[in-house]
Amino acid sequence: MRFKIFCAITSMRISTLGRYSDLKSGRISVEYPCDNFQKCCFHAHTKENMIKYSPQDLIHVAKKQGYDVLAITEHGETYFPQSIRKEAANSGILLLPGIEAYLGSERDHVLVINTDKYPAKSIKDIKDFRIWAENDCDRGNTLIGAPHPYYYDKCCIGDKLEENIDLFDFIEYSFFRSFFLPTDPNEPALEIAEKYNKPILGTGDIHRLWQFGSTYSVVKAKKNPYDVVSVIKNSGFGDCCIEEHFKNENNLEKNITTKTRRLTAMEFAGIMKEVIIGKFSRNFKKS
Ligand SMILES: [Zn+2]
Ligand SMILES: [Zn+2]
Repeated sequence: MRFKIFCAITSMRISTLGRYSDLKSGRISVEYPCDNFQKCCFHAHTKENMIKYSPQDLIHVAKKQGYDVLAITEHGETYFPQSIRKEAANSGILLLPGIEAYLGSERDHVLVINTDKYPAKSIKDIKDFRIWAENDCDRGNTLIGAPHPYYYDKCCIGDKLEENIDLFDFIEYSFFRSFFLPTDPNEPALEIAEKYNKPILGTGDIHRLWQFGSTYSVVKAKKNPYDVVSVIKNSGFGDCCIEEHFKNENNLEKNITTKTRRLTAMEFAGIMKEVIIGKFSRNFKKS
């Protein structure tokens, strides 16, 4: 009897929540406020040597894949022209300005989202960054994130993340996951997020359009910059969950759900090939 009651309550809960993918694709009728769930990518590029698509292509594919919120975060510069804002608005995508800034001699990467006023030219290192973040930044409306903090490249912020943890609103869960990597560099990022109660946001760090489908976040917020930013700022590690695509779960109870999958062998090999060619051609130019 008790089991039957438990089953009835559970099935009622599941049917009330519905499935995010079903809600987004329109496969089920919506009595439920699906407008409160935003499929987001807070880390996307359009201007690298290897990139073979235009900013317009980026918007079109984001729309096709049901994204609601997108931040274009170019390396070292903010790219937020009227033309691309219009394109996004016409596609029903909330486009946030952003930048993947460089700090220090190792050019550590830091994500700054929802401001187009980041003074990239005058901020040289983490000390300058702190002064800006504590004085001139509109902190309530700006998100500061640590992308791929513990990956293998020297541009990853590494230990400086923990030393400056008070500056960060979120820690990225990177799409770059593979059985071919000796360890999962997202693991130390999760440990630091848990230790300091920071939210985890999955992103695709888009350099190839297929990356949209690999890792992303679903944020329980209304579709406006203020709500998206404040939900992330007010979330801790316990308000987040990570779900593998293949499990086909859709947890709508947490503020932030990261949906992720490992790269296929072909995807991994393709990226490694581009990285090696990129490094080789940079060294060739230097010499
Ligand atoms: Zn980066
Ligand atoms: Zn990036």
